[in-house]
Amino acid sequence: MRAIKHREFFTVTAYLGLHILPNAPFQLKPSPGKGWGAFATREIKIGELILAEKPICAASTYYGRLLPQELQKAIDSITDADMAQLSLLRDNTGKPFMAPQEAFMKNSFGTGTMGNLTLGLYLLQPRFNHSCVPNAIQCPGEDTTISRYACKDIAPGEESIFCYDPSLHSLTKTERHERLGFICKCTCRELAPPLQQVSNLRRRLYRGLRYLSQGKDIDGPTHMNSRRLITNLALKKAAENFELPISELFYYSTLAAVVAEEEGILDYTLAESIKEELSRYVIAFMTPRNMKVAKLAMMKTTWIVKLELAVSIRGQRDEFDAMYTMVRKGLARS
Ligand SMILES: [Zn+2]
Repeated sequence: MRAIKHREFFTVTAYLGLHILPNAPFQLKPSPGKGWGAFATREIKIGELILAEKPICAASTYYGRLLPQELQKAIDSITDADMAQLSLLRDNTGKPFMAPQEAFMKNSFGTGTMGNLTLGLYLLQPRFNHSCVPNAIQCPGEDTTISRYACKDIAPGEESIFCYDPSLHSLTKTERHERLGFICKCTCRELAPPLQQVSNLRRRLYRGLRYLSQGKDIDGPTHMNSRRLITNLALKKAAENFELPISELFYYSTLAAVVAEEEGILDYTLAESIKEELSRYVIAFMTPRNMKVAKLAMMKTTWIVKLELAVSIRGQRDEFDAMYTMVRKGLARS
């Protein structure tokens, strides 16, 4: 029998006492190297709700800043039953928190907009671990409820993992760890060096393709590495000035989806957002051949086949190109 690590021992009885709805498709279990995690108790289909949770207390912030009196007000509002549940939470060393305020800081998530951000203390949401190749997404609702959905099919016994920040998709392993502030222990750690190099190249390529489609980097228009990201300066300038032909944009977005799929990060949400982007190009095309091929590509079910069609019109000028540039410039200014 595997020896239970000291840290895991502390949490064994504690986390098993957290209330989970009887029909929930997951259970809490130790996750090797990551403390505890949430594991599927049955197959969870893509798009399925895994958990919708309200916080046991919530505090308003002043433009994202939590004022001590607001935190205290939130703590004072916790019911006795919820306080008993809160006492089951453990810190990173497996020990109980010294005070509810500390538990709040380590187990809170924000909902709402930056100007009206509410921080809530959740008992179950923080039990879900991070992965650079996630199978679930976390969606803040209109109120303080946070929902979690499968963005890929999850097999029984598989851990449900999500990416703390979708912008990490565009970063190499080292960059991701820098931004996360810790060494991630997901599958990215297990890759052999050559495969890790391929993964980094794919992420870099994905980032460059998004730059070309959107005319700016994920870190903003003045990203320091952007010269290294796209070495063809004329191409980079054309992208920034929204002067690339629509057929070129159609190709870059489709290729980005293929690269993301290869890398395992093309989840449901990303796929839908790229499809939406492609639909906008389809509507924009005016030249009959471009229009016909793009529509055909949209009907294909696999990204690689969509890409084959996108390649066939890549770089072809369209009657609407000049107007499309003006529209995009106008939108960027507004
Ligand atoms: Zn990782």
